[in-house]
Amino acid sequence: HVKSRGKDGYQFFVSSMNTPSSNRLILERDLRKALEDDQLKVYYQPQVNAQSGEIIGVEALVRWHHPEKGVLSPSQFLPLAEETKLIVDISNWVLKTACNEVKKWFQEGYHNIRLAVNFSPKQIEHPRFVQALIAQLKRYDFPAEKLEIELTENVIMNDLENMVKTLSMLAENKITIAIDDFGTGYSSLSYLHTLPIHTLKVDQSFVKNIQEKRNEACIVNAIVAMAQGLKLNIVAEGVETETQLKYLKALGCQEVQGFYFGRPQPAEYILTLLAEHKNSQQKNQYEAV
Ligand code: C2E
Ligand code: MG
Ligand code: MG
Ligand code: MG
Repeated sequence: HVKSRGKDGYQFFVSSMNTPSSNRLILERDLRKALEDDQLKVYYQPQVNAQSGEIIGVEALVRWHHPEKGVLSPSQFLPLAEETKLIVDISNWVLKTACNEVKKWFQEGYHNIRLAVNFSPKQIEHPRFVQALIAQLKRYDFPAEKLEIELTENVIMNDLENMVKTLSMLAENKITIAIDDFGTGYSSLSYLHTLPIHTLKVDQSFVKNIQEKRNEACIVNAIVAMAQGLKLNIVAEGVETETQLKYLKALGCQEVQGFYFGRPQPAEYILTLLAEHKNSQQKNQYEAV
């Protein structure tokens, strides 16, 4: 009985997905309906320049506003979507929605916001992925150079040969690439410098204990040093405290993202955040004069 499992009801079915169950079919049916009925929402989390505090980008993170279960996080429905063709429809919907919402911020005068979108392996393995993506961006009238694609290490390393081609085509079209959750997969470091990537996102597990655990600090330090050597941008994920921010700044980390700067929120909220930010910057300018 779904309800008795509470808010996380689907979690159970996701973890037992190998056995075909009617619950799985229910989730699949509900998710398809969710797409049609506009129950999915894109939330945005600010990405911030560690030194200036300026918002330089946002990461798009999908949510399901379920009519009975409340707001569901991606881990509660994306695994099943990944197993079906639904992930393609969801991904296309996320990209379209995010491009249209972020474009409105450009029109409000915030021209320098980068939009980071998570892509699933199913999407980028498609033979015409890059052409289709370029066509989508044209249709949405969204500048390619403002889009950053987040891929996890393992997705890239699984099929390195094809990935080099795909990533090169993306780079030729000015779309930048970030390696997500960096340090938790199995990156071949010798290949890293041959890939046309732009950003390494330090996984939040390393940021979490950065002040108490020397090992974590050492790992972040090594990743930042490597990124600097390879001229890659760094985003540290999961920054929750001022202490963590201080450590990351001291290590030379350029960009940060985490609850300390803001949780993932709907588009309207981010626009307010941008406006507040602009006001405080203007205020600082006046104070400096
Ligand atoms: P991710 O891309 O690594 O996204 C970062 C996750 O960390 C997000 O979880 C975010 O809410 C969470 N987070 C951010 N700051 C903090 C912090 O300070 N502390 C903690 N504890 N967590 C923080 P979320 O939104 O639940 O997303 C989970 C994963 O689902 C994402 O990990 C990404 O891999 C995937 N995902 C989300 N949206 C999409 C999407 O539209 N398409 C695809 N293919 N995957 C998505
Ligand atoms: Mg991500
Ligand atoms: Mg991540
Ligand atoms: Mg992740």
